[in-house]
Amino acid sequence: MGTPKRKRHRIEFIAVGSELLSPHFLETNSLYLAEKLQELGWRLSFKTVVGDNLEELKEAVGLARQRSWLILISGGLGPTEDDRTRQAVAEVLGARLVFNQAILEKIRQRFESRGLRMTPSNRRQAYVIEGAEVLDNPHGTAPGLWLESRKEVIILLPGPPSELKPMVENLVLPRLKKYGQVRVLRASLRITGAGESFIEDRIKPVYKDLPENLQLITLASPADIQIRLEMTVGSQPEKDEKTFERIKNRIIRRLGPLVYSVEGRSLEEVVGQKLKAAGLKLACAESCSGGLLANRLTNVPGSSDYFLEGLVTYSNQSKMRELGVPEELLAAKGAVSEEVARVMAENMREKSGADLALSTTGIAGPGGGTPAKPVGLVYTALAFPGGSLVIRNLFRGNREQIKFQATQKALDMLRLKLIEMEKKTQLK
Ligand code: AMP
Ligand code: MG
Repeated sequence: MGTPKRKRHRIEFIAVGSELLSPHFLETNSLYLAEKLQELGWRLSFKTVVGDNLEELKEAVGLARQRSWLILISGGLGPTEDDRTRQAVAEVLGARLVFNQAILEKIRQRFESRGLRMTPSNRRQAYVIEGAEVLDNPHGTAPGLWLESRKEVIILLPGPPSELKPMVENLVLPRLKKYGQVRVLRASLRITGAGESFIEDRIKPVYKDLPENLQLITLASPADIQIRLEMTVGSQPEKDEKTFERIKNRIIRRLGPLVYSVEGRSLEEVVGQKLKAAGLKLACAESCSGGLLANRLTNVPGSSDYFLEGLVTYSNQSKMRELGVPEELLAAKGAVSEEVARVMAENMREKSGADLALSTTGIAGPGGGTPAKPVGLVYTALAFPGGSLVIRNLFRGNREQIKFQATQKALDMLRLKLIEMEKKTQLK
């Protein structure tokens, strides 16, 4: 992704507030700003979180000025002693803070309209950095400030997201557009069924002739990998579009059926669409995934078209009573076994009248593992017309991650089976 061509071509964000450095508070303004900058085809190069400390604040602003042409700063514009952003920026720029009567009047009116009296500390908020334009804040007392010189643009924004967002949307983005929007081509490939290093190996050859304006970003979590392609369109848009498609398709070809979606859709959506298109019904019987599979399936709007039912048969009793798993089988093989997984799926299919049924049984941990059956051992099974299939998996991670991987594997088994069934009908 790009930014306007400048000597210092970078954009950065500084979040101000000691609470943002604590373990209790999540800094979210940067996420919002990064998303909004994307609309212009721009991307952040740096983000800094700094506490309410004048010296540290000045240091952060000074560093930003050395390397970035656009500096967005949020927070520290409040009425209290610890709000020092205005002062820090003024000192770094060698500019004065000047009192602005109009701002004070606005703040006063804001208080009075609610039947309140303005406090003396609000006077602080009426000081603006010399040369700055004031950005009106209809949602709070602290106005934003816009400082623009030939060299740089510095924008001071209020900290509360409810105040920052409308200001960015209504006042900041429209003004930034004049610096040149960039068109960005994007695609998101979603992958499951192989690890990050395997995927990296498969697509390595593609990296060799990657144009400079195309970025590949890999986001990996257990059992789900996303490859994002982002390309800044330059002076030859048609050529860029062709290159983008060529590279995207090359990656898809190299990964084959590991790619479950090219538009960023979730696995449950993809599977749901296939079931619907084929007019097939699904049911599931879960043990270790504890209902997560049914939850994921039913998170998709319209899932009632193909999803009949899901059971959470967690205990042996329940597996026997609800699914007719034989007691002898449980005693001989254990609940976490290929045999039990298979019977769970087959009997669920039978009982529900569905065309396909999935099951999970495993050890999600952290306790309960043995050398023969360690934590992370999960059997996932699929019963389909004419047979069934079981996979033995050894997942890593914590309890939640193991549960997620179990459902991911089950859904993926179903996806691959549905592709196979699609091919068969096409051959007919
Ligand atoms: P301030 O403008 O520094 O007085 O910030 C006021 C409040 O806005 C803080 O107490 C936080 O609740 C919120 N806030 C400030 N900065 C951020 C940020 N970067 N992300 C999310 N919330 C923030
Ligand atoms: Mg603050």
